[in-house]
Amino acid sequence: MAAPGLRLGAERLFAMPAVLELLSRSNSTSQAFAEVLRLPKQQLRKLLYPLQEVERFLAPDRRQDLHLRIFDPSPEDIARADNVFTATEGNRIDYVSSAVRIDHAPDLPRPEVCFIGRSNVGKSSLIKALFSLAPEVEVRVSKKPGHTKKMNFFKVGKHFTVVDMPGYGYRAPGDFVDMVETYLKERRNLKRTFLLVDSVVGIQKTDNIAIEMCEEFALPYVIVLTKIDKSSKGHLLKQVLQIQKFVNTKTQGCFPQLFPVSSVTFSGIHLLRSFIASVTGNLD
Ligand code: GDP
Repeated sequence: MAAPGLRLGAERLFAMPAVLELLSRSNSTSQAFAEVLRLPKQQLRKLLYPLQEVERFLAPDRRQDLHLRIFDPSPEDIARADNVFTATEGNRIDYVSSAVRIDHAPDLPRPEVCFIGRSNVGKSSLIKALFSLAPEVEVRVSKKPGHTKKMNFFKVGKHFTVVDMPGYGYRAPGDFVDMVETYLKERRNLKRTFLLVDSVVGIQKTDNIAIEMCEEFALPYVIVLTKIDKSSKGHLLKQVLQIQKFVNTKTQGCFPQLFPVSSVTFSGIHLLRSFIASVTGNLD
């Protein structure tokens, strides 16, 4: 546990440099995260809360359009989630197996989260970034055309399982929809589906197929906006607002808050780890 009395929301973090100092010296905070906490305020905000960074460029009367703080973990929670994602002797983080059919999927009792998205959306880069505190984990990628695409299962200690689903869209295997559809429909321990959308191009036709599947099966899902480092602030803001409007008006099961990330700058990665830890019951 982190030092007591530090359960503050993101908002107050920046108003209290002493909290940062205390947290970065706390024994429960990993070395890597302690260094993150020493970043200058603006860089820290950009890294931990990229949506708040986007909001700064919105006119005050438009700010209520974005949902920023429905999930607003304290820095202490972010540090705890990072610990969940850190491989140690007592917290083994490993690739388990792959499957092309749901009946070949490993029988893992823990809560599960899965990642789906178009080919090239940045899914393997994102999973590698999430697992950067477990450098031994090999995120397998089979991109050669004609190769069978599989669901890859990773276990994160005794906490939860992460499933990397095959990418859809161009060159997706014909049986892709069957595989993903059956998994989404039948996987009982699936707690949350993370649907990746490229922030540069926004929601594409093929993304709608995945969105419709999640809606039809009444699954709780989340939209993660990838590659946010690639756009100008103006372009990113436009995409974020468009996608937020889509989520607000056209979806039922989608979590109202968007999760923008960059696997290059690591922006949003800590927050996403915290959300995964939270939905799998590891921040209770
Ligand atoms: P996948 O097919 O969905 O697994 O996508 P990959 O992770 O292989 O990424 C596709 C391409 O996008 C690769 O060239 C990556 O280097 C690039 N990419 C992925 N994530 C990011 C990101 O956050 N920022 C930038 N600039 N490029 C990214």
